[in-house]
Amino acid sequence: MVSRYDTLVVGRGMAGLPLALRAVRHSSVAFVEKETLGGTCLNRGCIPTKTMIASSTVAHQARRAAEFGVHVSAPDVDLAAVVDRKDRLVESIRRGSYRTVEKADDVDFFQAEGRFVGPRRLSVGGTEFDADRIFLAAGMRTAISRSTASTRRRTTPPGPCSISGAARSPDRDRRRVHRLRVRPDVPPLRTPGHRRATRPAAATR
Ligand SMILES: Cc1cc2nc3c(=O)[nH]c(=O)nc-3n(C[C@H](O)[C@H](O)[C@H](O)COP(=O)(O)OP(=O)(O)OC[C@H]3O[C@@H](n4cnc5c(N)ncnc54)[C@H](O)[C@@H]3O)c2cc1C
Repeated sequence: MVSRYDTLVVGRGMAGLPLALRAVRHSSVAFVEKETLGGTCLNRGCIPTKTMIASSTVAHQARRAAEFGVHVSAPDVDLAAVVDRKDRLVESIRRGSYRTVEKADDVDFFQAEGRFVGPRRLSVGGTEFDADRIFLAAGMRTAISRSTASTRRRTTPPGPCSISGAARSPDRDRRRVHRLRVRPDVPPLRTPGHRRATRPAAATR
């Protein structure tokens, strides 16, 4: 069986939901999302990084407290607690996202991966959808270069951003890094043009 919509939106990140809510004023709309709502920004981008940076800022301020005439003992950063706080905040915003979708009864939501099976036909979790307009708000994925020497020599885009040694790190992408509960033993970052970058001051043990 094939379901028909005027508009299909693939991806419910920062782009997908506003697009679907706007399109529904003029047409029948469905959107599909293969993961949890919120996309990169909520799940592994803007929000998680800023909540963790906020913890880092507090640790930094505590370390500088004496400069301000305030005496405190050296901060002991508990990365697991930092991650738990981040997860609570993300979860509460995510719940709001699901509520928005539930309230928008005129937009149909399908939680599954969308795959093209024709020029205007998408297969979503075993059901096929036809639409006049299909918007791809599917975001991006991190490209990790397997090569080190060749990418370091490359001077012009396009091509994956090269961080030497990144492919060897198991914690290399944003999906994993936000879940680390103990400080990883990472090699110092080396990027083209920089002989050696210093280890960033992180809110970790
Ligand atoms: C670490 C980090 C920090 C960032 N910080 C900031 C910041 O402070 N401020 C800022 O403005 N921006 C920030 N960004 C950028 C911001 O997150 C992105 O610009 C934004 O999320 C892009 O939104 P989008 O809707 O285009 O894509 P996404 O949010 O990636 O959404 C795409 C969605 O499509 C879904 N999808 C993909 N393929 C399919 C398919 N075939 N079927 C169904 N669903 C599919 C994905 O699951 C995903 O949920 C940050 C990004 C990162 C990685």
